Amino acid sequence: MSEKITWIDLRSDTVTQPSQAMRAAMAAAEVGDDVYADDPTVNRLQDYAADLFGYEAGMFAPSGTQTNLIALMTHCGRGDEYLVGQEAHTYKYEGGGAAVLGSIQPQPIANQADGSILLSDIEAYIKPDDMHFARTRLLALENTIGGRVLKQDYIAAATSLAHAKGLATHLDGARIANAAVKQNISLREVVKGFDTVSVCLSKGLGAPVGSVLLGPKAFIEQGKRWRKMLGGGMRQAGVLAAAAHHALEHNVQRLAEDHEHAALLAQGLAQIDALNVGSPQTNIFWLDIPAAACAPLSAHLAEQGIRASIGPRTRLVTHLDISRTDVDKVVAAFKNFFQDWRA
Ligand SMILES: *Cc1c(COP(=O)(O)O)cnc(C)c1O
Repeated sequence: MSEKITWIDLRSDTVTQPSQAMRAAMAAAEVGDDVYADDPTVNRLQDYAADLFGYEAGMFAPSGTQTNLIALMTHCGRGDEYLVGQEAHTYKYEGGGAAVLGSIQPQPIANQADGSILLSDIEAYIKPDDMHFARTRLLALENTIGGRVLKQDYIAAATSLAHAKGLATHLDGARIANAAVKQNISLREVVKGFDTVSVCLSKGLGAPVGSVLLGPKAFIEQGKRWRKMLGGGMRQAGVLAAAAHHALEHNVQRLAEDHEHAALLAQGLAQIDALNVGSPQTNIFWLDIPAAACAPLSAHLAEQGIRASIGPRTRLVTHLDISRTDVDKVVAAFKNFFQDWRA
């Protein structure tokens, strides 16, 4: 038998392994058929998440791509449009699902350096009521976006503007818990202003699978039709919901460690002259690596048991399977490599 390699994996916070305690919760989960709403563990998770974030109701689904798409399809109909950042996951990284499956036209708008969309842009892109235009229905924001935290006063202004103009608001909150922990505010506070929010349990929170969509009861009920149509109606899903519930109960406050580790990693790498390293706000940051160094660096890191998506613009991500010791090892491996490297 070959020995199992424990990689230090900085590609994403989706790579975490369920802990023993999480696996125990999964093994012990009481289950039923969730398409009949019979799964007590799924029902408990949905109620718990809704209460935690201050919404009426919640829906568990297999992925964040699906909870976002369900939200877009419930807010918008055929021929409607939603305003969204150029860099947003729902626009750029979800296969064009809103357009393909929802007949919803995205109106992408430039993101500013801090991840926000200018209020003046939001206002300018809302279409007048005229048969030439798609009907602008929704503003969708993302927090954190590329690891950056949107400011609370910005969110208040953007969501108020949207509501005043008759638009609904959706938050892609894949990593919203990181934003809350970073600002030391509650999960209820950080989602204020959004009619609906999608939260990933399978990112930094450490569950193996799943997201929740939160919103008004009638909205969630309507959304369940789309979830079924999209193939997201799961049966004895309590096994997964138990892991998600465990993640929400135990892994929110500890995200602060991931933020600290990202800061330490960035500080360590910034000592290397060849690199241009960004300042992390949460658990994600970017660095520029000379193009000629990328392939040999990637091989060098792999030899040291380190996985990273190395490229001229590299994203590094910390998570609950990255320890302080791992951070030191990664900095040392980068330093070793660049000691000998000449352009
Ligand atoms: C990961 C992610 C999602 C959803 O991704 P899934 O892999 O489908 O769960 C949505 N938005 C953002 C910003 C994400 O990072």
